[in-house]
Amino acid sequence: MPVQYLKGVGPKRAQIFAQLDVNTAGDLLEYYPRDYNFVPELQKIANLKPNHDSAVIGLVESTDYQQFRKIPIFEAVIADRTGRCRVIWFHGGYLRDKLQVGQTIMATGKVTLYKHQLQMTNPKFTVIEDKVADAVEYFSGGIYPAKAGLSSGQIKKIIKPLLENVPQLVDEFYDGNYRKQSLLIKRSDAFEWIHNPPDEEKLKKAKRRLKYDELFLMQLGLALRRYRTQHLTQSEPMPNSEKIDHRIRKRFPFLLTEDQDKAIEEITNDMASSKPMNRLLQGDVGSGKTVVALYAALLAVANKQQVAIMAPTEILACQHFMKIERYLKDSKVKRALVTGGITGTKRKQLLKEIKSGRLDIVVGTVALLQKDIKFKSLGLVIIDEQHKFGVHQRAELRKEHTPHCLVMTATPIPRTLAMTAFGDLDVSIIKHSPPGRGSVITRWVDKKDRQKAYDFIRQRLKAKRQAYFVYPRIASTTDTENGQVKAATDEWKILSKNIFAEFKVELLHGRMKSADKQKIMDEFRKGRIDVLVSTIVIEVGVDVPNATIMVIEGADRFGLAQLHQLRGRIGRGQAKSYCLLFAETENETAKSRLEIMIRSNDGFEIAEHDLRLRGPGELFSTRQHGLPDLKIANIIDDYDLLVLARKNAFDLVNSDPMLQNANNKNIRKALLGKFGDTLGLVDIA
Ligand code: ADP
Ligand code: MG
Repeated sequence: MPVQYLKGVGPKRAQIFAQLDVNTAGDLLEYYPRDYNFVPELQKIANLKPNHDSAVIGLVESTDYQQFRKIPIFEAVIADRTGRCRVIWFHGGYLRDKLQVGQTIMATGKVTLYKHQLQMTNPKFTVIEDKVADAVEYFSGGIYPAKAGLSSGQIKKIIKPLLENVPQLVDEFYDGNYRKQSLLIKRSDAFEWIHNPPDEEKLKKAKRRLKYDELFLMQLGLALRRYRTQHLTQSEPMPNSEKIDHRIRKRFPFLLTEDQDKAIEEITNDMASSKPMNRLLQGDVGSGKTVVALYAALLAVANKQQVAIMAPTEILACQHFMKIERYLKDSKVKRALVTGGITGTKRKQLLKEIKSGRLDIVVGTVALLQKDIKFKSLGLVIIDEQHKFGVHQRAELRKEHTPHCLVMTATPIPRTLAMTAFGDLDVSIIKHSPPGRGSVITRWVDKKDRQKAYDFIRQRLKAKRQAYFVYPRIASTTDTENGQVKAATDEWKILSKNIFAEFKVELLHGRMKSADKQKIMDEFRKGRIDVLVSTIVIEVGVDVPNATIMVIEGADRFGLAQLHQLRGRIGRGQAKSYCLLFAETENETAKSRLEIMIRSNDGFEIAEHDLRLRGPGELFSTRQHGLPDLKIANIIDDYDLLVLARKNAFDLVNSDPMLQNANNKNIRKALLGKFGDTLGLVDIA
């Protein structure tokens, strides 16, 4: 029922409710209080004891207002038949025209002893207009997030009649057995108690139940989406064999690491099946994902299938291609790089070869999925997302093709997000990088140590090492809010002319032409450039083992994940590397973030910290991933409940994939009502 037709609402308030995302009576039931008042048992004044939370009702006999050491203090004396009690409010000036002699009030709060007299300090209170019972009821229970024109008390009055009918209004999802096993109270009780808790224990149970339901429905949506992609579409099975495995491994001039082997095993298992693979391969920059992806690609080619490898930018696509070329020298596998720069007859020729199936591996950007590019038999799609990771892109993909799909990401995804935002994917993780990497030492350098840092860098450059200098901006702006922000273009001049005059210092940034960028990267790779000054464009895809120094200017302005990505550019060779964070900040959060960087080199640990510091919303908004926002559950704090809900949801889909069982009728209804559209669950509807 639209909220407008509830008692006490009407069109005007309905508009205010709409701003709170409350449109129906059901939404209103899910508009939970932000806090609660619990009224202790009412006491006679004579029975008050110090240091107890108490509630008393008394007549206001006198009031007084004064300033004491600049603090405005409002005082009253209240009395009942048994005695008197002083009540005092610091900063209570606003009470002067609220509280008058002759009124009866109920005050709740802690009672203390002051100069041998009982008093209540800063109690909450309400004026009793009519019946005591009404006052207690009005005062106790939920405090709602209010809005201009709609107070918490008004919301409470509107919800009250709904609560009386909750058993008829609210469908139960689970039978008694299930509830018992998962320690869940009835759903109708939960709604009643979340709005009007009899005590704190019951409130806790109500919260747990509603959080569970929210997480359960979300996980159910994910489980169904996953089931659907696995069962309603088919991919080409690509079995592995000892012979194929041997042939592929011969391509790599090193032994694969344990983590790489494990990832490959998981991927080949997926690919052997006609269920489409839908796997996320996670690992820090340099951990060896490309090698794993190439293994998958070669397995597909061995099964006479084509492979598309896609990167977010052309530079990255180019680098992937070059890397692959290194491994595939003298191989019969036909591969090509397709970029926007290739046009005319050359492009036509390439497209023809893709269509005829002559080309086995095609590397490019996501433009590879464009309409004019047709594959003969696209069996595997590999997407390197780096850190821009989008569900929508994946969904798009599935409309036209049903290839196996492997997504690589260098962004460590904390376990909570792996279960929610990415909850319908399988995940392989490369935790340990290949051996023989030098360690990276991270230091925070402030103003006074700058010269020392430059001297140190000069020494390393003389020893033929190379360095990155990274800036938050290309050009400086007169930004009053953020103060002086060092920018790449200006600092490049200073570095090349003054500080490192005897070395070759070059500038690279995102606004340069693609060809110019490419040229500078090449020169740097060949060691002809000593210092590369840049913005975060180098965040993606530079692999120069001889570069062992990275200076990050204004490090406090980068996100943790970003800093970690940047740092991944060094420490690629055997030598020790140094990451110097130049930052001048007094901000505590910024400081604690820099400290995490100094302490940890583990991307997952850093990501967990980042999630905690910033909250899940910012790092990966669930909305962005096609999931609805959570109203009561929190994937970090309610982790254990999330795990339970996830297990139960996936079990349920295994046993009743279309939710056709009569027992699951209410769950199905709730699910479709909530996320039918967002998760694209049309088939089960
Ligand atoms: P990612 O794609 O995760 O950034 P890459 O696959 O590009 O990492 O590997 C980074 C570097 O490590 C490459 O130079 C690669 O040749 C090397 N490498 C990968 N796997 C191994 C291994 N098992 N042993 C030694 N070196 C490896
Ligand atoms: Mg890579």
